Amino acid sequence: LQVIESVEPTVAGAIRGELADQRASLKLIASENYASPATLLTMGTWLSDKYAEGTVGHRFYAACQNIDTVEQAAAEHAKALFGASHAYVQPHSGIDANLVAFWAILAQRIESPALAEAGAKHVNDLTEDDWQQLRRAMGNQRALGMSLDAGGHLTHGFRPNISGKMFEQSSYGTDPETGLLDYDAVRATAREFKPLVLIAGYSAYPRKVNFATMREIADEVGAVLMVDMAHFAGLVAGKVFTGDFDPVPHAHVVTTTTHKSLRGPRGGMVLCQPEFADSVDRGCPMVLGGPLGHVMAAKAVALAEARQDSFRAHAQDVADNAVALAEGLSRRGVRLVTGGTENHLVLLDVSGFGITGRQAESALLDSGIVTNRNAIPRDPNGAWYTSGVRIGTPALTSRGFGTAEFDRVAELIVDVLTATAPTAAASGGSSKAKYTIADGVAEKTHTAADEL
Ligand code: PLP
Repeated sequence: LQVIESVEPTVAGAIRGELADQRASLKLIASENYASPATLLTMGTWLSDKYAEGTVGHRFYAACQNIDTVEQAAAEHAKALFGASHAYVQPHSGIDANLVAFWAILAQRIESPALAEAGAKHVNDLTEDDWQQLRRAMGNQRALGMSLDAGGHLTHGFRPNISGKMFEQSSYGTDPETGLLDYDAVRATAREFKPLVLIAGYSAYPRKVNFATMREIADEVGAVLMVDMAHFAGLVAGKVFTGDFDPVPHAHVVTTTTHKSLRGPRGGMVLCQPEFADSVDRGCPMVLGGPLGHVMAAKAVALAEARQDSFRAHAQDVADNAVALAEGLSRRGVRLVTGGTENHLVLLDVSGFGITGRQAESALLDSGIVTNRNAIPRDPNGAWYTSGVRIGTPALTSRGFGTAEFDRVAELIVDVLTATAPTAAASGGSSKAKYTIADGVAEKTHTAADEL
């Protein structure tokens, strides 16, 4: 840090500040974690300085032998860890991994007149004229994914993301009574909509997904099954999700981030069946910039860590802690979407406290509890204010929290949210108790007006 300080003190200050903030707060954002020192240190190396477009052993730059080594190591670890036949570790993020996957699926599966007329086997072989025809031909390709309010992700065909422009999109939701995925409803929508891609995976659904059933549905309608396991990759790696709930044997293509429950560096990855391997490997330069050697190296380190027995124990702890958190919240009267959890996250409906998700997020943050607001199914408050808060266990499990600590976390959350309720609404104001987290104890310090 002294070296950084001598060049740019503002940045050194922010790095120190982030460490202090992370130490002083309870990190409960479901998509965050603490990468290991080995993973973090690997990123801060001169592997960052190298250009290496291409793939292992086939680069468009000279002197890539060390990048070859780390890329190969990361891919081998990923294949061994997940039992995948092919792994592409270049994507810079989860969004990039999804984009690589979408283009690979289009490249492999479109039977377009443009391709036939051009005599081309692959979209990358098309001329500009062919592309124009292909864009028209692609106009009616369809993707079916989980709706945003049921917990789906923007990159699953929704308009703010390019996937929503590449595909005509439809979505499946969850059962209004139970909040659970209704596979018969997914099947019915798939039969009617006939998507090219059936997307499974989520950001805020607190349950397991049966990928064997999703594959059956995909096969029935001739779709490619793409699973985005960004959120729960750590539970797959740690063998908490096995059999029908492990996406890798069932999906044609699996995408993931490497930094969430998998606890690696910030980045993405695509695993796929052999049919898609060649197209997936063309991710750079199709949609990606040059591969980040330092990050691929850190992926190799984190994946090696995830292959250790200790990671399996950690993954099971993540899931057990989520159950303890869910039970602790339910016991104290909080309504949970789907009534509980089977993965690493819990989705609270905070409307019972008379507040929005935004107010809950802000009150919890004031108390050193870092969560994020999240829409719940059929949310009357919309995606900005929301009625929900999403809470995940990976980061604090990495810090050594067990079920007893997570029960205490549930108690703290309920204390803060109860004190945030608009008790003084009649007088036109509102009050809330503010807590600081000191040595794991919630301490009432003062009351303050909230933004109610
Ligand atoms: N896919 C899912 C399911 C996610 O939850 C996210 C991030 O929140 C992404 C993809 C995108 O990941 P990234 O932020 O690395 O692009």
